[in-house]
Amino acid sequence: MSIKPLIYTALFPLLLGSSLSAYAEDEHHHHEHGAHEHGIAEMDVAIAGKQLMIDLESPAHNLFGFEHAPQTKQQKELFEQKRQQLRKGAPFILPQAAGCRLVEREDNLDELQHKTGGHSDLDFEWQFECADTAKLNVIDAKPLFASWPHLLKLRVEWLRGGVQSAQTLDKHATELRLTSE
Ligand SMILES: [Zn+2]
Repeated sequence: MSIKPLIYTALFPLLLGSSLSAYAEDEHHHHEHGAHEHGIAEMDVAIAGKQLMIDLESPAHNLFGFEHAPQTKQQKELFEQKRQQLRKGAPFILPQAAGCRLVEREDNLDELQHKTGGHSDLDFEWQFECADTAKLNVIDAKPLFASWPHLLKLRVEWLRGGVQSAQTLDKHATELRLTSE
């Protein structure tokens, strides 16, 4: 089951990778932006009407430091801790004035439990409904960088109305600027 709303598909015909259901069927899935590279993650942000949609794809390494089913006690605890943390909400700070609330979220974390070797990608989707998306001028990914210890660079492509742009974030520059300057 994919939560991907129709509008997202309409907005991201080129940028968007496969839906989660397609992802599950394709072990060798790669994001259209680039190949699996440890330290790097890709994110798509789309704003349309009252909706904000964020799609994140990252090597599992960036979150856990490993890319297979957790084996040691330490890995199992880390996996559980991160999974609980990530399922509580979204790792972003949004402007209060925009009045956004998380309405849907999805991830493929459980797929990692079945991996025995090779590389693994994680895929996350968050969907918000906002009272006023005009006030949505910045998205701070600080909590994401704080909770993903091996994430060095986040390549973001965003789309709002007719404006499409890109920005690369890191630990020292965590704010995505959603303006067309
Ligand atoms: Zn890998």
